[in-house]
Amino acid sequence: MAKPQLKIWGTLLKEVVNTDLCMFCGTCIAACPVNVLFPTEDEKPTIKGMCVLCGLCYNSCPRIELPIDDIEEYLYGRMRSDDEIYMGIFRETYSVRSTDPKIRMGAQDSGATTSILSHAVSKGYIDYAITTGMDEKDYWRPKPCVSNNSNDLLKTARSKYSVGAPVSGVGDAVAAYPDANLGFVGVPCQIQGLRRLATSPLGRKKLGEPVKLAIGLFCFDSFKYNQLFQEFVQTKNKISLEQVEKVDIKNNRFNLFAGEKVLMDLPVKDLKPYELPACKNCQDFSAELSDLSIGAVGSPKGWTTVLVRSSFGEEVFQSAIDAGVIESKPLNDVKPGISLVSKLSKLKKGRPATYITSKLEPAKE
Ligand SMILES: Cc1cc2nc3c(=O)[nH]c(=O)nc-3n(C[C@H](O)[C@H](O)[C@H](O)COP(=O)(O)OP(=O)(O)OC[C@H]3O[C@@H](n4cnc5c(N)ncnc54)[C@H](O)[C@@H]3O)c2cc1C
Repeated sequence: MAKPQLKIWGTLLKEVVNTDLCMFCGTCIAACPVNVLFPTEDEKPTIKGMCVLCGLCYNSCPRIELPIDDIEEYLYGRMRSDDEIYMGIFRETYSVRSTDPKIRMGAQDSGATTSILSHAVSKGYIDYAITTGMDEKDYWRPKPCVSNNSNDLLKTARSKYSVGAPVSGVGDAVAAYPDANLGFVGVPCQIQGLRRLATSPLGRKKLGEPVKLAIGLFCFDSFKYNQLFQEFVQTKNKISLEQVEKVDIKNNRFNLFAGEKVLMDLPVKDLKPYELPACKNCQDFSAELSDLSIGAVGSPKGWTTVLVRSSFGEEVFQSAIDAGVIESKPLNDVKPGISLVSKLSKLKKGRPATYITSKLEPAKE
């Protein structure tokens, strides 16, 4: 009889990292109990030290397994119905913006994400939040940050269109503050890693469970930092990343700004060579496994769309409204509204998924 194969770091390397399925979410790095997994500058996890063959990294990776139905039972008490197949489970939809002009100025779209997180910390819903700031020297290279106040959260606002292993920041936060309740912001694949961490029977649940509030960002694609930002923007086009104050993708254009000045304006299709290969295997546009999902699509300029998914997400969101830190309108009252979120979600469902998905099969494109 053949011996059962041990599924360990080496297996993860072979099956996910070396096959370009890894989206560098950092879940394996967080899961490693002997801290020998590290992020690298070429956006892959690597090992430095001795593997103890525990298999926690393998069993926490959302690209190995992602039982969406079980995760939805854990998060929302039920699995999605046929009607919810493209965007997942949600209760309400709004168009939202921060009421704080300083946050709006420093944020990507409306500052809703930063304001809701700041409110959640100030009211004690969470003690710390893991967000994505940038490296002090390598401008626009994403880096996980752990914060517990509005000023520090605002420093990490605005979108970095690359990935920086933010789930590893959850591991750091749990190690530093073992009894804390945590918040987390991430793109859909990172939320998947976070939820796999909290639910995998063979993983490290005690790292995922302290995350009480997960804010997921809408996302179609991420880009390779070295190739897009360093080689293309900085070396080829001679735009210093230090002077870039905002990176934005809207209406199929890729823009770099310094204040109001446009430093670069290109069609997004020109960025195709720089797309993160792992995005080809992601079917999730609207961060289907979050407590609150937030993105620009669906709302007018300066506002963001919020899908309220979980009961805890609803409680924090309502509290932020009641405290006046955000203002909201029903998404049905604005254009283009939910139809565009639905259209993009459906489009992304046409991509092949590698992991075990819902028992409900999405329609093929
Ligand atoms: C890679 C990427 C792709 C996106 N694609 C789309 C899209 O196709 N359509 C759409 O409508 N919206 C997209 N978004 C979301 C959008 O850019 C805004 O983040 C969202 O509208 C929230 O705006 P805000 O003003 O509330 O955010 P802010 O208040 O500025 O807060 C943004 C939050 O996102 C965190 N963050 C920034 N970069 C990253 C990152 N790389 N990984 C994880 N967290 C990060 C910040 O730390 C901060 O907490 C994308 C975001 C990212 C990071």
